[in-house]
Amino acid sequence: MTEFNVNEEVQKAAEKLHKELQEKSFSGRNPQLGRMVNCSVCDSRHRAAQVCEQKFAMGSSRRPVEDQILLVAAKTRNGVLGAKQFKGKRLKPHPSKANLQLIQLTQDLFPMHFPFYRVPEPENATPEEITKQEIESATNAMTAARVDARRMLLQKSYLLRRRRRRQQDISRRINQKKDV
Ligand SMILES: [Zn+2]
Repeated sequence: MTEFNVNEEVQKAAEKLHKELQEKSFSGRNPQLGRMVNCSVCDSRHRAAQVCEQKFAMGSSRRPVEDQILLVAAKTRNGVLGAKQFKGKRLKPHPSKANLQLIQLTQDLFPMHFPFYRVPEPENATPEEITKQEIESATNAMTAARVDARRMLLQKSYLLRRRRRRQQDISRRINQKKDV
């Protein structure tokens, strides 16, 4: 059995730790502090360990907690998540060229699908119930139309790619014949 000189071992470990600490950066020596963040709540830059919470003006304490916040903006996405991550972004992003095609084709196909998804009105149905039913049928028909449209566009792009590939093969063959 090897006998350890405890004092020597401790001394070695302490020296090793000391050397490691000297080589490490501030965040390496203090990993519990977390990385630096641009805090959108207090509008300054600090360590992630410091968590800032938004404080809003509160109303009567007799009301339930979620209703006590007086500022309406506090309940919007900017109020909850901060405006920073939404800055410079469109509320409704413009569709890409491919998506525009999909939207157009879906709208064109919709009238073909709609009759199949229509449900006859139940008797004694209130106007609200009828409206709800119509919206549901239209949504289902629109979903089906979109599935169809997506399939058609995929098929079209596949055919286009295949035609291009064949054209390449033919041209290559013609060029090879010329070379000979
Ligand atoms: Zn902060």
